[in-house]
Amino acid sequence: MLRLHNTASHKLEKFKPIHSGQVNMYTCGPTIYDFAHIGNLSVYLLSDLLKKYLQFSGYKVLDVMNFTDVDDKTIKASHAQGVPLSQYTQKFGQAILDDFDKLKISRPKVICEATKHIPDMIKLIQTLLDKGYAYQAKDKSVYYKISAFKDYGKFAGINKRQLKTGASGRINSDEYQKDNAGDFVLWKAWDKDDGQVFWDSPFGKGRPGWHIECSAMSMKYLGPSFDIHLGGEDLIFPHHQNEIAQSEGATGQKFVNYWLHHGFLRMSQKKMSKSLGNLYTLSQILEKVPNPMAFRYLILTSHYRKALNFSFDILQSAQNTLDKFSNFIARLRQQQDKSLDTTDNQAKTQQLIDIALTAFTDFMDDDLNTPQAIASLFNFINQINKMIDNAQVGPIVAQQVLDFLKKIDKVWAFIFPDKKFDPKNEDATQIGNIIKQRDLARQNQDWSKADNLKQQLDQMGVEIQDNPTGTSWKWKKQ
Ligand SMILES: [Zn+2]
Repeated sequence: MLRLHNTASHKLEKFKPIHSGQVNMYTCGPTIYDFAHIGNLSVYLLSDLLKKYLQFSGYKVLDVMNFTDVDDKTIKASHAQGVPLSQYTQKFGQAILDDFDKLKISRPKVICEATKHIPDMIKLIQTLLDKGYAYQAKDKSVYYKISAFKDYGKFAGINKRQLKTGASGRINSDEYQKDNAGDFVLWKAWDKDDGQVFWDSPFGKGRPGWHIECSAMSMKYLGPSFDIHLGGEDLIFPHHQNEIAQSEGATGQKFVNYWLHHGFLRMSQKKMSKSLGNLYTLSQILEKVPNPMAFRYLILTSHYRKALNFSFDILQSAQNTLDKFSNFIARLRQQQDKSLDTTDNQAKTQQLIDIALTAFTDFMDDDLNTPQAIASLFNFINQINKMIDNAQVGPIVAQQVLDFLKKIDKVWAFIFPDKKFDPKNEDATQIGNIIKQRDLARQNQDWSKADNLKQQLDQMGVEIQDNPTGTSWKWKKQ
């Protein structure tokens, strides 16, 4: 049975969904004002892993993710480029979907953009006003009154008296017409910096605050109470605390049953931040290690609640490990024309598969203990390799193993290589042959033939480099 560490209780808890067989989950998504960095992407990888594992365990999953397409940052950036807000954010929304595809993050069933849900937010703000959890200040902005919510701060372990400043979150310009410095903005009244970006509302023209977006959109698609809410640990306070205050203030019901938070990704022992210049996008790391699965694998080798220390060295070693998987699969496929199957070997393999499957589910059920689950996978591969060494693997046994790997790869998604990155695939053989012909042409000083062959490689998307030790190649950047 799945157990998850719940940030709300600081404990491992047995997972029981509200509706039997169905899991409703929400992940705080990106602000689409720039390319996502690998710290953001590691959170979405956790969300994807959990979704895939829940599906593997037989649940139906309805997962929702927001795209924040209006806030101070998006408005400022679109003004700086002189383009309308929606045109500006669209590009980055598409970029993150491309990142998802590259990392085999299956797209959330519902991706909701804030600007398409303004009426839902206005409705929720109105309810909070009606119930006395919110007030309109002299500056016309509407604020959440944290003193009205009895348990404010409890979720984040923060005492109300400690809340002198800082609960306001991303909107900086809301300082300070509000009654209490901890009160945060729900509806920000229009000012000239907003330009053309505003909506009409019963509280006057303006735009929603960031926190209200997530409360309004999660409850719209998942109901007033749902199973899992997920995000980076930097969102625990104030963002998630504020979501709880908004949603529970409005509905009087428990908002979320299980809160999961992903640990910070660190960069060579340092915090990742814009000011340190060590925030990398996926495209930037793919320039050094071109296979996106290396990043997926690397993130999953560390437990999600621990801070992973990212470096290009460990990314490269993750790639080397992926090569072991593809070598293993190639080795299995080579057994398919060898008549080595016996009923004993089949039974022994089935036994190893049963043990490996139990290990996989036991570790994953233990708060998604991916490092241990991956270790058990290697244990399994070692044992099958021994069977191959001992001439015990023919086509039937090889197929048993491949079927098992395919089954768990629905969760991992890194075992079977993308053709493009598989050194064993046919393209690779063909490329190797063309490079050999080119080397020969160069030796014979047949430069035009060598050039033609180089052009042929270029058209295949291959970049070559002539080194003193020979010619190396790689796929061109996309
Ligand atoms: Zn959120």
